[in-house]
Amino acid sequence: MGYVPDSKFYKVEAILRPWRVPQVSSALLKMGIRGVTVSDVRGFGAQGGSTERQGGSEFSEDKFVAKIKMEIVVSKDQVEAVIDKIIREARTGEIGDGKIFLVPVSDVIRVRTGERGEQAERMAGGLADTSVPA
Ligand code: ATP
Ligand code: GLN
Repeated sequence: MGYVPDSKFYKVEAILRPWRVPQVSSALLKMGIRGVTVSDVRGFGAQGGSTERQGGSEFSEDKFVAKIKMEIVVSKDQVEAVIDKIIREARTGEIGDGKIFLVPVSDVIRVRTGERGEQAERMAGGLADTSVPA
């Protein structure tokens, strides 16, 4: 796909319902995704704080809802497969399912070896190894 700006690598940044994350991560692992970072975050979107309506003013901090941020850096040709998988496993169809941001990444550096670029992004047994070449 013609993402703008064009980049060799992208970070798929998904804000998801915490209870859906085990399902998403095991599906990603199964497809050959090995490198994933998760963080506990809190936010509001259309869902707002609808589960916590009692008390507090309209924009008070206690309206933030607990979410997980999942970050996965992959080469461009793997982006859509990762996004599709996340949607399939995370979607309930209800407000609050989350959102995915796609961010271009300039370089990947493996600390242990100093490798950069494609060599650093490739993981042993990763998607590039497991999938049949196009
Ligand atoms: P090594 O072979 O030296 O172990 P590695 O590429 O497997 O290198 P790690 O050092 O094991 O990387 O990774 C450290 C942390 O970096 C992981 O726990 C994960 O949070 C994050 N990480 C690694 N690769 C990715 C990636 N492609 N996308 C998102 N997070 C990643
Ligand atoms: N694209 C890497 C590979 O195919 C996997 C990257 C990742 O696991 N985030 O090896």
